[in-house]
Amino acid sequence: MHVHSFLCALAAASIGASAACAQAAKPRPEDTEIWKPVPRVVTPGRSDVDAPSDAIVLFDGTNESEWLSVRDHGPAQWLVHDGVLTVNKKAGNIETKRAFTNYQLHLEWQVPAGITGSGQARGNSGVFLASTGPGDDGYEIQILDSYNNATYVNGQAAAIYKQYPPLVNATRPPGEWNVYDVIWTAPTFKGGALATPAYVTAFHNGVLVQNHVALTGPTLYIGKPAYHAHGPEPIKLQAHGDPSAPISFRNIWVRALPDSAQVPVP
Ligand code: MG
Repeated sequence: MHVHSFLCALAAASIGASAACAQAAKPRPEDTEIWKPVPRVVTPGRSDVDAPSDAIVLFDGTNESEWLSVRDHGPAQWLVHDGVLTVNKKAGNIETKRAFTNYQLHLEWQVPAGITGSGQARGNSGVFLASTGPGDDGYEIQILDSYNNATYVNGQAAAIYKQYPPLVNATRPPGEWNVYDVIWTAPTFKGGALATPAYVTAFHNGVLVQNHVALTGPTLYIGKPAYHAHGPEPIKLQAHGDPSAPISFRNIWVRALPDSAQVPVP
């Protein structure tokens, strides 16, 4: 309480509030201003799809040095060519050398023109937002050619696999680049038990497709999900076993986020 308000409160208790006091006690704009801490300066990319200055670039078109083969933790064996990273289905999934908790992720993917197959067997890949183990263990946001290609809706492009269909289907046709921007909030655990679930917000080609959905656990091909405690984990890209032609990625970057990015109004 401000000194003036305090004196007014005293006066009100003894002799009754005056009109002047009532006027002075009105909330002021400054009461709700926050001046510190001052947000860090980040230099944005040349365009909104380019990495800002505080991003970790995971693929810039030239090499896969930020990635490991999931199978043996040796060097990633996907194909880098023409500024893109193409899935090598025989080599299996790849994951980042770094582990992350909460982050903002940008990546672009392209299903090749002339792709064949149908349903889940047409341009299937995926991004595991936390890779909690070998193979497909983790939390997958689906990548699939969902341009005129019916499948179960919680398995189409931009679905949280077998949990949440995307709000809309914003998939571009084969041969064009799709853009994912994802905000991942990792689950938290206390004494091995779930404290708060994982949350995902995602945009597909700039269109909101997942709005702060709470995951029920890691994404599973078969069965009901259940959480198991884990810490910071790598990001994983899927080499799916379907026989269709492999998809490609480009321009992958991530910004680690603090556990709590918001300062509440006092
Ligand atoms: Mg997949």
